[in-house]
Amino acid sequence: MKIRQVSAHYPRWRETLGGWRPRLWQIVVRVESDTGIVGYGYGGGGEASLPIVNGHFRELLTGRVVERVDDIAAIWDDLYFASIPYGRRGVGVMALSGVDLALWDLLGKATDRPVYDLLGGLRRPQVRAYASGNDPQWHAELGFTAHKFSHRWTGHPADYDKAVASAEAARQHLGDDALVMADCYLSWDAAVTEEMGRRLAPYNLHWFEDILTPDHLAAQAAVRPLIKPVQLAGGEHEFTHYGFGEIARTGALDIWQPDVTWCGGITATLRIIELAAQSGARVVPHRGGEIWGLHISAAGLCDDLGELVLGQRNTRQERLWLDEPQAVNGYLAVTDAPGLGVRLNQELLGESI
Ligand SMILES: [Mg+2]
Repeated sequence: MKIRQVSAHYPRWRETLGGWRPRLWQIVVRVESDTGIVGYGYGGGGEASLPIVNGHFRELLTGRVVERVDDIAAIWDDLYFASIPYGRRGVGVMALSGVDLALWDLLGKATDRPVYDLLGGLRRPQVRAYASGNDPQWHAELGFTAHKFSHRWTGHPADYDKAVASAEAARQHLGDDALVMADCYLSWDAAVTEEMGRRLAPYNLHWFEDILTPDHLAAQAAVRPLIKPVQLAGGEHEFTHYGFGEIARTGALDIWQPDVTWCGGITATLRIIELAAQSGARVVPHRGGEIWGLHISAAGLCDDLGELVLGQRNTRQERLWLDEPQAVNGYLAVTDAPGLGVRLNQELLGESI
């Protein structure tokens, strides 16, 4: 089949996640073949990435043949190369991610195979989910056995006590056997991390996430051995296997967390996973419990841990993607529906696509 139509759309997000950035600026990419099959992908970059897909990428994609996984990889390389002057990192690759995921969905639907099957088959029918958020009691009630709390360093010594209180609450509600992680969203530094390592030691945390920005890899590499056995995790704001190459070279992180909808899609994530294997790092995709990363985990290609960002108790989640697997007793199971196995909730687009 050949690609006939390509379009990118910004949903009418009403619900905010993280305040000013509604639903992380996610976009929808639609790719239609000349056989009438439609694939949908999820990308990043918000309205800024729409003209990249609807202008430049559409021009390059129209008429391209998609018959095999290798065709998607070749298209990825061509789009990446063509967007080098403005791309390589950030919005250009976030737009490319949406296209890549739409192509995987398209190929799966055309061959009547779920994406995990295109990735080598179902090796993990149940993926362990972890809940991100600051309500460990609710997470425990829902049956999760893995939980990540968020923490921000504001420069005040009381911030240490807040981290200890979060770790204590997590252990109280989830028990000693649960996996408990801390995400400080680029707000700590090496000295704070070391001190946190000491103060949080009684709570046996599994990882500290995003202690510094992606531009501070040397400091992360230096502090990594000092906090063992706590693992250093990060990478949700890194892009492609080229970007992760720097993380590999510096040895900055134990656990790599590419975001499948930002880092270049499934194609880039597979290359990142290959690089991680060569570097002795583990891969736990950012928001990996969502359908875009879940197929990779179901195929057994990364760690058995899928993140779900749950929001607040008693608030209704606005669902852009229908039929997405929900966690049951802390586990997620993909369905055998062709492609990525989700349907688009057209209501949130304000137009039918
Ligand atoms: Mg994070």
